Amino acid sequence: MKFNEALKDIKMYEAGKPIELVVREFGIAAEDVVKLASNENPKGCSTKVAKVIADNAHKASLYPDDSFFELKAALAKHFDVNSDNIIIGAGSDQILEFVSRALLSDQESVLMSQVTFAMYEIYAKQMGAKIVRTPSYQHKVEEFFAAYQEHKPKIIYICTPNNPTGDAISREDVLTIINGVDKESLVVVDGAYMEYAAAKDEQYRIVPNDLIGFENVIYLGTFSKAYGLGGMRVGYGIAQAPLIHELYKMRPPFNITTLSLAAAVEACKDQEFVADSIALHQEQIVRYEQFAKSKGFDYIESYTNFITYLFNGDMNSTAIADALFREGVIVRNLASYNMNAIRITIGTDRQNSRFFEVFEKVVT
Ligand SMILES: *Cc1c(COP(=O)(O)O)cnc(C)c1O
Repeated sequence: MKFNEALKDIKMYEAGKPIELVVREFGIAAEDVVKLASNENPKGCSTKVAKVIADNAHKASLYPDDSFFELKAALAKHFDVNSDNIIIGAGSDQILEFVSRALLSDQESVLMSQVTFAMYEIYAKQMGAKIVRTPSYQHKVEEFFAAYQEHKPKIIYICTPNNPTGDAISREDVLTIINGVDKESLVVVDGAYMEYAAAKDEQYRIVPNDLIGFENVIYLGTFSKAYGLGGMRVGYGIAQAPLIHELYKMRPPFNITTLSLAAAVEACKDQEFVADSIALHQEQIVRYEQFAKSKGFDYIESYTNFITYLFNGDMNSTAIADALFREGVIVRNLASYNMNAIRITIGTDRQNSRFFEVFEKVVT
């Protein structure tokens, strides 16, 4: 069978390795495995949300309210926008897919930083579009302008804070980029980790209302990270109503589940859980910074819920990630991004202690 030509060039997304794999391969007990690979919330999810999921279990036979009325109302209130500015997706990943399908063809290109979220490229390639990357992994205004002038991309991705590096671009610089490009290019501001950046430094805080005055900009957020609901698959896009209207044409009906919907509505109300998650994170990430300094290697200043350790020539990220893995500590090796680096999700106090202990043991 001959498949779509575009598929030839697509490398599949490499998801974080599951705990079950370590249990199967190395016979390590599940409770001794420390998974710090997928930027999940180490606190789990809010107990209030867990209760709502359990209480709604009997509704699993029913399709959800396809207008997602309650969730949009909750998000509209939280972000001070209108419900018709919002589209809901099965993770913000699905909104990325809608955006790509709505705008791209094999005549178009997309612009992104050198090292960024892998799905931007995958969705663009599905549409046959060309990938253009800036020279640096950081989002640098001049580099975005230079590439923009040369390629006139249909979509410009700004991932802030950026995954898998953890750095961020300031609100001022994002607005400079937006103001410097033509309305024919859509600027996607992916704020999957925005709650962490906003809590760390005001200059990096971007809210949908900073962007909604622009007809060619969409802000993306997710319940998967700070809200601790990765397994429920709920994300959102916020933009001017005409843009949201076009994206709706890409949406399958009932694209999040009845239980996901109930969970997200409750999660929106429990901002205390988000604040507690960020507090734990801020307390624990300091340990990773100090550990790197004590071992004499670099890390990227992080605005996310993970940290990226950068190794020099004597240390090899693939060997290190493999050695940690065999001891039941799962981290993300960034060799496939051409970086000699590992990305570690900041865990609980206990998980982090285990990481340091195993790292000391296997990296000598
Ligand atoms: C995790 C993540 C997303 C989306 O995750 P979903 O679970 O699909 O909502 C989007 N962008 C970046 C950069 C991410 O790290």
